[in-house]
Amino acid sequence: MGMAKRKLAGTKKSGSRGQLASVAKADEAFGFRRLPVLDLASGDSLTIPVYDFEGSDPDAPSVYLQSAMHGPEVQGSLVLALMVAHLKENPPQGRVRIVPNANPAGLNAKVGEYTNGRFDTVTGDNFNRRYFLPTTNFAWDDFLREHAASDEKAVVANFRTKMRRALESQKTKGGTIADRIAITLQLLSIDFDHCLDLHCANVSVRHLYAPEHTRADSAYLQIPHVLLIPNDSFTGAKDEVFFHPWQELARRRGNPAAIAVQSFTLELGDQETVDRRGAEKDLAGILSYLAHRGVLAGKPKKIHPVFCALENYATIHSPRGGLVEWRAVPGEKVRKGQVVATILQFHEDPIFHEVKSPCHGIVNLRHSSAIVHEGAELMKIVGTPSGA
Ligand SMILES: [Zn+2]
Repeated sequence: MGMAKRKLAGTKKSGSRGQLASVAKADEAFGFRRLPVLDLASGDSLTIPVYDFEGSDPDAPSVYLQSAMHGPEVQGSLVLALMVAHLKENPPQGRVRIVPNANPAGLNAKVGEYTNGRFDTVTGDNFNRRYFLPTTNFAWDDFLREHAASDEKAVVANFRTKMRRALESQKTKGGTIADRIAITLQLLSIDFDHCLDLHCANVSVRHLYAPEHTRADSAYLQIPHVLLIPNDSFTGAKDEVFFHPWQELARRRGNPAAIAVQSFTLELGDQETVDRRGAEKDLAGILSYLAHRGVLAGKPKKIHPVFCALENYATIHSPRGGLVEWRAVPGEKVRKGQVVATILQFHEDPIFHEVKSPCHGIVNLRHSSAIVHEGAELMKIVGTPSGA
């Protein structure tokens, strides 16, 4: 990209397995460490890898990326490995922090050959619903009064400090395994302007959860399906907890469009899968978006994704238990009433129950097993109300 290479300190191999690499000094362009996140019963510690690129321009916007918060969703970890290599050759303008394999408890949760790490095996909690909203009990009126005459930079910096302190205070309260991992990841990301949380979904087309205010920018990620979530949405997921305080600040200051940060959940294809050709394309999209946002140099390129409001994103729950034969595959256009699957049950004559699409649209994902109970989340359709 025509940028001069900077000195990359701390790139030495970290030595024998399990040994901690030294933390890079603040004045170095690159640093690697393994951060302890959880003590195990055996007395061993689980750690997560953290890569830091300082950036050449202290005023350039910054980005935080993480992958595999859900244990089986590992495609993003390959994408981030490729990104580390790319940034070592092409140092960024803004700060970049990369946390692959963000949830070792989830990654290690094997049951037979499958990985059960979407949920905490102890509590049943979804690992991506335990983030803490740092504006809980926030003294909005005091903050707004104190900053009535402050410039934009001071408002952003002081608000961020308040959020960080709220997270640090919450961390001292402990909590479950999922709570502890989540708060550690929040503290790692709070000082950044952008947050990309990399996931995967069953057997699926690549798609993206994007807050409404990022609609135009999201096209630079080059992901074909974009699910638009309302700006005031909050279910405890990472993308929401990252932007929600800032959209609330913008709204209370009377300029709801002036949201200082952007965050996305990227769903990079099938779970339990690592695919290099796909990862190279995934990385190209991420680099394009970050060039568009000024974090990196380079020429941004956007696509024309299919945008879908969450209210038009249809879930088909299996009407019967049995064995599934798919009649439509992810990426396929379907019509309302079209048979998209059959469920086989054994009676005197074997019966194939038909499952029909509730709307016109495009199949976004399907269940990853052919064996389902009644009520299983069988398929999701990106609805196109104007016709498939
Ligand atoms: Zn996920």
